[in-house]
Amino acid sequence: MISSKKAIELEDQYGAHNYHPLPVVLSRGKGVHVWDSEGKKYYDFLSAYSAVSQGHCHPRITEALKTQAETLTLTSRGFYNNILGEYERFVTTYFSMDKVLPMNTGAEAVETAIKLCRKWGYEKKGIPENEAKIIVCHNNFHGRTITIISFSNDDNAKKNSGPYTPGFIKIPYNNTDALAEILKQPDITGFLVEPIQGEAGAIVPDDDFISNAAQLCKDANVLFIADEIQTGIARTGSLLAICGDCTCEGFCERQGTYTQPDILILGKALSGGIYPVSAVLASKEVMDVLKSGQHGSTFGGNPLACKVAIAALEVVQDENLIQNARKLGKLFRDEMEKLVHSYDLFTKIRGKGLLNALLIDDAPDSDTAWRFCVALKDNGLLAKPTHGNIIRFAPPLIITEEQLLECVAIIRKTVQNFSK
Ligand SMILES: *Cc1c(COP(=O)(O)O)cnc(C)c1O
Repeated sequence: MISSKKAIELEDQYGAHNYHPLPVVLSRGKGVHVWDSEGKKYYDFLSAYSAVSQGHCHPRITEALKTQAETLTLTSRGFYNNILGEYERFVTTYFSMDKVLPMNTGAEAVETAIKLCRKWGYEKKGIPENEAKIIVCHNNFHGRTITIISFSNDDNAKKNSGPYTPGFIKIPYNNTDALAEILKQPDITGFLVEPIQGEAGAIVPDDDFISNAAQLCKDANVLFIADEIQTGIARTGSLLAICGDCTCEGFCERQGTYTQPDILILGKALSGGIYPVSAVLASKEVMDVLKSGQHGSTFGGNPLACKVAIAALEVVQDENLIQNARKLGKLFRDEMEKLVHSYDLFTKIRGKGLLNALLIDDAPDSDTAWRFCVALKDNGLLAKPTHGNIIRFAPPLIITEEQLLECVAIIRKTVQNFSK
């Protein structure tokens, strides 16, 4: 096996420099752990941005992959395959939505949702051609295609990539007054929102923001679109973040705090990190605006992806990941509160379930959070800063209480020996 040093040199020389990875080279993963090329073991507290919620190389999901890989992998949608329909019934039942459109990556699914929303606006709501507008939030993260960065305020991702796609209006996050005001304008077709902002640093809105926003959209005949690519599938201690504090374990009864979206976007943990699988789920009325030839993907809905996604979702249910994320998330924040209280380096811990962020007391452009993550790495825990002085902590949801407390001890030891 090549050394970590060599692996980094190769990426540096032959790859695009569109990421700035922590200097660690991973060569193996199992459950909550990953190992580097020299055999050092780490806790993975990034979980590939919440894609590996079920843990690395989950045996049940890899088994589904292996079996289907030896049977049939890709037919294209030019023909039917014997797995897609079964998956479509499974995933729509699981999330209580009428219909699904299978895609591969998150950004593709967001693009699909935007297209669907605009078409609905023209064909069902009667918006004049090319006038449809979609409302989005400040500091959103929905991916990095040209259209998506067009309505982002991440200047680094946007710079020198114009001309940008028009048709989006930005409002502050967690502000129903601003939403109500914009909804008075004509030709609004949708509101695209993350129920908890992940990349922005686990920003949890007021309890009633999502349900109120959905109601305002409904009253204005505007589609409510939830991007749950990062927050969905047990991550925040409920099946979806839009479930609020609903405690049911998947196959939700849809009572209490649940908000019904018109369009629901999933990705990341939908495959347990084994294979790129994303999905756009919608009501029948919305999905039926798409006709033959109007959208598609060579790989979307392939039988391998379908089998992997079914296994990944079964694991979420059978291993009680919703309950575990809720219980251990609370424990983690309680333990981190103690550290925030004891050490000036930390100003705040926030989040929901096992999607949490630790705020570092330094300027957003300082390298303190980065250096702290390097120190954590040296002590056996991998995490990554987001937006400068914020560190996201999102371990696989299969983590046990004992393991979580060991991780808190690593963080404590690291801060004790860290100088800003
Ligand atoms: C990761 C993410 C995306 C983009 O997904 P990719 O698979 O990287 O294209 C979109 N929206 C949210 C909320 C995400 O966290």
